[in-house]
Amino acid sequence: MRIRTSALTAIAAAASLALTLSACGQDSEGGSEKGKGDTKGSTVGIAMPTKSSERWIFDGANVEKNLKAAGYKTKLVYGEDDPDTQVSQIENMITQGVSALIVAAIDNKSLDNVLQQAADADIPVISYDRLILGSKNVDYYASFDNEKVGELQGGYIVEKLGLKDGSKKGPFNVELFAGSNDDNNTKYFFQGAMNVLQPYIDKKQLVVKSGQTQLNQVTTLRWDGGTAQKRMDDLLTSTYSKARVDAVLSPYDGISIGILSALKSDDYGSKSKPLPIVTGQDAEVASVKSIIAGEQTQTVYKDTRQLADVASKMVDAVLNDKKPETNDTKTYDNGAKVVPAFLLDPVNVDKANYKEVVVDSGYIKESDLK
Ligand code: BGC
Repeated sequence: MRIRTSALTAIAAAASLALTLSACGQDSEGGSEKGKGDTKGSTVGIAMPTKSSERWIFDGANVEKNLKAAGYKTKLVYGEDDPDTQVSQIENMITQGVSALIVAAIDNKSLDNVLQQAADADIPVISYDRLILGSKNVDYYASFDNEKVGELQGGYIVEKLGLKDGSKKGPFNVELFAGSNDDNNTKYFFQGAMNVLQPYIDKKQLVVKSGQTQLNQVTTLRWDGGTAQKRMDDLLTSTYSKARVDAVLSPYDGISIGILSALKSDDYGSKSKPLPIVTGQDAEVASVKSIIAGEQTQTVYKDTRQLADVASKMVDAVLNDKKPETNDTKTYDNGAKVVPAFLLDPVNVDKANYKEVVVDSGYIKESDLK
């Protein structure tokens, strides 16, 4: 652009530039300008992984609520746990001219091409809960302290078995389950749990009788409860016909419910064969009910309302050329860059504190737990 000196001309030029940018921000055909112009009223695209788990339904609804309150329109899509579906949904939203994208990936490595298309159209991308890998076109990451989630689960097992305070010495039998191998969170959850469990495994106070201790032996594709149930069935048949399993590390409530079904079909939960400790994550209604009924033992509560709030504020800041608040600029290296992150705190939940943590905070209605 040629630089003009007259003050009047400069003001006119600035006004016309502002108009052009603001038109870009709102144009449903022509894409948007990243971080520039008045983007209020533009449409933010939200890609969530699945409706099969209630947390993602809450996440989607809360992100929409926050963005609408901040003056944006929203387009919310769910990818049915199918990576190709998610890629084409994101492509469509780019074509429709969204001003920003919030993406909770299904397969964290499948989005590189589509995020390049977003970058070419100047669309900023917030990686939601699950870090997108291998792409430099991820602007910010909003999540929980994922390693801490695993530490809470592992810590709960050693505490409830009496190993932590030394009141029991073991050995106790434990089996390990992890999440989907295409979700970047999986390794953080597992690492966090093993930080706590490994020293007891080394001292033989905990025994993984199946011998399956490596992450690649214990993952559960797409976090599927049925897949976990089948693996638990197989473990009970192959390894526990004469022994008893005392604890099961489960990374997610849907997996915990599958594990519990396998255990109950093998007579666990009867008088002579109490259920093992079974952990979980997400404080889903079915699992909190199971905790109240004395079946699942623990879950990790992550207030997804807060996560939705953080992600929405990130979008609003980026679109208005401001720097979003972050609290971790070191941990989340996605292979192409270290993505600046805001991490929230996960909280342990069991029968003793579920009321205080999930009901009193309004996350779950008491009547839904009846
Ligand atoms: C989330 C967990 C959730 C899991 C399965 C993970 O990426 O962080 O909260 O349990 O996906 O949906």
